[in-house]
Amino acid sequence: MSLIVQKFGGSSVADAESIKRVAKRIVEVRKAGNEVVVVVSAMGDTTDELLDLAKKVVPFPSGRELDMLLTAGERISMALLAMAIRSLGVEARSYTGSQAGMVTDAQHGSARIVEVSPKRVREALDDGAVAIVAGFQGFNRGTGDITTLGRGGSDTTAVALAAALGADVCEIYTDVDGIYTADPRVVSSARKLDRITSEEMLELAATGAKVLYIRAVEYARRHGVTLHVRSSFNNNEGTLVVNPIEGENVEEPIVTGVAADLSEAKITVVGVPDTPGKAAQIFTLIARTNVNIDMIVQNVSSASTGLTDISFTCPKSDAHAAMEALTAQKADIGFASLQHDDQIAKLAVVGAGMRTNAGVSAKLFTALFEAGINIEMISTSEIRISVVTRADTVNDAVRVVHTAFGLDGEVEAVVHGGTGR
Ligand code: ADP
Ligand code: ASP
Ligand code: MG
Repeated sequence: MSLIVQKFGGSSVADAESIKRVAKRIVEVRKAGNEVVVVVSAMGDTTDELLDLAKKVVPFPSGRELDMLLTAGERISMALLAMAIRSLGVEARSYTGSQAGMVTDAQHGSARIVEVSPKRVREALDDGAVAIVAGFQGFNRGTGDITTLGRGGSDTTAVALAAALGADVCEIYTDVDGIYTADPRVVSSARKLDRITSEEMLELAATGAKVLYIRAVEYARRHGVTLHVRSSFNNNEGTLVVNPIEGENVEEPIVTGVAADLSEAKITVVGVPDTPGKAAQIFTLIARTNVNIDMIVQNVSSASTGLTDISFTCPKSDAHAAMEALTAQKADIGFASLQHDDQIAKLAVVGAGMRTNAGVSAKLFTALFEAGINIEMISTSEIRISVVTRADTVNDAVRVVHTAFGLDGEVEAVVHGGTGR
């Protein structure tokens, strides 16, 4: 008997028919003698629709109330799924994040899990029931309030439960057959990977490959949880996320995948005095505003003015707060003006083999140049190169780069459902 945690994303439980289909699948696994814990996301695009609704009421909703609103999405799907499973003759009990013991810090909208005590989930399993847990939500002990884990956070709920319960595997069911060399919605020649290392998946997730949420990959790596990403629309084997064994000599591909991210904006602080301490002042302020910075570029200062420009990228949703904080300190920092650009995109190539291979940047930049795509910012890690380009041409850029690195496959990648929102 195995303990299996199965997470179903929004596209897998988008309507009544899908919920019944998923229920059948869960019942088969339970009837085969396994213990099953299911984590569900909100149906279809419910979370986005609730967000749109809130923004129609007020442009900047309070974090506490937004979390309260969004967690309703997962409550709907967990209850419906439990009903569907029961109708097939298997006992099922649904639990909210708090009932399942998902304790988080108090950061609304992106809370971190600090403790998992799935006592009631364990009891349900001991009684022979399937436990259904609402993904993406938890609660804070100090405030007693409901929190959410950040967009895509149901993946983290699943991994955290798998770790706490000592599950044999954590299966992430979605609308594609696994992790591909690029988003199959963008690159039809993308190839499904049989396995990917967790470090590569972390880099891809950090650059927009939302098939797995970055915090879930981190959590799985830290707690040794085996992740299997697969389709809920067929029984094909998906992609295993593995931790490479130290000393194991596998031939690593130079480039494993390409990802793009349209969720960031670029802010440029124009005319900053080029004196020690200015960057510290700017980024201390931004950090205090709880804005996560990604790429940073500082221009060489002009000799005649002694002024420089500093650009950085951050989530679009944080740009407003960053601009406000900087404006309030304009005189103190001494910069001339601020520019805000939300028509940027980040493109990244990722591959563990980059460590030992020269020429990856040259190949990337050449491919982009030949496609007439301008590069605005560059950043690198040991196994990733990211560039910022214009948003409206980024999908073309991804396809060109995918081909340039020889990643194109023979068969067309299939997307089974979802809207890609
Ligand atoms: P779910 O609703 O199951 O959580 P998501 O929409 O969060 O699904 O994630 C699945 C989607 O991730 C796919 O439909 C695909 O468009 C997108 N995606 C982006 N990059 C990749 C990739 N490298 N491999 C597979 N899917 C990807
Ligand atoms: N429903 C949440 C979202 O859309 C969480 C998730 O799907 O993982 O972000
Ligand atoms: Mg997801």
